[in-house]
Order: sequence, then C-alpha cells, then structure tokens
Amino acid sequence: MNPCPCGWAGDPSGRCGCSAEMVHRYRAKLSGPLMDRIDLQLAVPRLPPQDMRPDAPRGEASAPVRERVLAARERQFARGGTLNAHFNQAQTEAHCLLAPRDQALLESAMESLQLSARAMHRILRVARTIADLAASDAIATAHLAEALGYRLLDRGAAGQTA
Ligand SMILES: [Zn+2]
Repeated sequence: MNPCPCGWAGDPSGRCGCSAEMVHRYRAKLSGPLMDRIDLQLAVPRLPPQDMRPDAPRGEASAPVRERVLAARERQFARGGTLNAHFNQAQTEAHCLLAPRDQALLESAMESLQLSARAMHRILRVARTIADLAASDAIATAHLAEALGYRLLDRGAAGQTA
C-alpha cells in the first residue's frame, strides 16, 4: 500500500503534494477492522542512492537472523505450547504481562490511536515476540514501544508520517 495517493508521503524530498485530508481519505479506504488485523504496519522509506552502491554496508546476514528466530520460536513453545501469534485472548492475558508503567503506556496509546481490544491483544503478542527475539523473559518498555510502532498506520495516526 502506498502511504498516500501520489505515493511520496514521508519522502525526505518533500515532493508529496497530498493534503492531510487526501491522505486521510486514501488510508480510510482500508477499513479499521482490516487494519486491525495487520500486525506489522511499517513505513518503508526510499533508499538514498548511495545505499545501493555495491560496496555499501550490508544488512545483517540471514543465518544469525534465522538462529534468533528459531530460538524465539522454541521459547514460545516452551512457555505457551504454541506460537505467540496463535494465542487466544486468555493465553495472551496470561503470557503477555506488562509492568504497570508499560500497561499505562499501552492504555494511553490505545486512547490516542483509537485502537480496538483486538488490536491491543495483537500488540501484546507482537511485543511478547519481540521480547522473545531478544531472549528476554519480561516484555520491556522498548519491546512494547516497538510493537506499538508497527501500528504506525492505524486509524488516528494517519498523516503523521508526512
Ligand atoms: Zn502524496
């Protein structure tokens, strides 16, 4: 999905000419209930040309990433008998506990982003998975904040990337 009708919203060149109203109407075409079900909503900026040079630094190699993912999956099965993504509501509540301070952060994000209960449970499961990838037993503030960041395009936040 493009970020706006012209596709340039958020680009550092500033060439997007869409009004906030146009961007909002465009994003509203994907209904709230549909966006609710998309766990990872990311803005993917255009790469600066120098990053595409053959000698530009590469991202992390696939093999260590694979190791981390496999370890995270093992943690998940050991904890809940299934993947975090497959938790029902009761399992989510049992296994995705937040510190009181982080619970307050989540609640205020739900307010400001107008998130549904379903979206909140999805955010908790994503935060639990981010913590698992970091081999962390507890969901830390940084894990929750990252999970919330993936809801970037949710209703209410539309237009803020421009
Ligand atoms: Zn635009």
